[in-house]
Amino acid sequence: MTKKPFTPPCGAGCAATQMELFAAPTAAPAAPPTVFDWGAHDFVVVGDSGGKDSGALVHEVCTQADKAGQLHKVRILHCDLGRTAKGHLVEWPGALDVARAHAEQYGVPFAVRHGQRWPSLWDRILDHGKWPGHFARYCTSDTKTVTGRDFADEVGAELRLGRPYRAGYAMGMRAEESTARAKRPVVERHRMSGKGTLRVVTTWLPIHQLTTAQVWQIHRDNGIAHHEAYDLGMRRLSCRACPLAHTDDLVRSAQLNPELFAEYAEAEEEMGHQFKESISLRAIIERARS
Ligand code: SF4
Repeated sequence: MTKKPFTPPCGAGCAATQMELFAAPTAAPAAPPTVFDWGAHDFVVVGDSGGKDSGALVHEVCTQADKAGQLHKVRILHCDLGRTAKGHLVEWPGALDVARAHAEQYGVPFAVRHGQRWPSLWDRILDHGKWPGHFARYCTSDTKTVTGRDFADEVGAELRLGRPYRAGYAMGMRAEESTARAKRPVVERHRMSGKGTLRVVTTWLPIHQLTTAQVWQIHRDNGIAHHEAYDLGMRRLSCRACPLAHTDDLVRSAQLNPELFAEYAEAEEEMGHQFKESISLRAIIERARS
């Protein structure tokens, strides 16, 4: 990547479920705030998958933090989704490196963590016996949500505050992606639990209003690293085989990742559960070959 000095100008796949990171707010404010209050938080965790929205997200958070003199509070987290039984990475090879490059560009600490119970999303899926779906987003909650919460606890413990920590959790969700996402508040205070809680967390969607074109413009304007899969025709950089992805993206991914898709197709057969409601992995692979 082209490394560019951090010059602050202006103020992400499966992020929706990460909203569940913290329990529902105890009282909904009459007018939800849209501006993140840096002074009210001890640190901010930024979830970076290595995708394009993550690049814009890191830029936006670090730009705002730098302007507010709060860059020292930012931590970038990449959730490692592990490998399949045959050793294939579940996510795109190089996604971790792109996420690390984002952190390096803006000079903020970078961490990689995987779930304690499920070191690999593959293991989690096989244990579940069914593929994730729109109404079964256990994949995100078990490999990203819990990991993000544990990481926030880790940072909170390191700070030795002697009180519940107050953290921001920034995600790259954008309104343009779906009606449901458009309805999400930009800033929302959550608490993990009631009395005796260890943490008070604010979920924050800093690039909620950005269009895809604006996301890419931010990359170009600031020399931000992006994954080569986009140059090869992918529109999203989620798991290489995500049942929630558009079929066209899956077909392209199957062309780029034939061995991984072959392993997924074997699992589909053994599981007896179709990968995607509208199409099987076998059919995706056939389309990829045609
Ligand atoms: S399978 Fe899809 S929804 Fe689940 S974690 Fe991977 S990219 Fe996100």
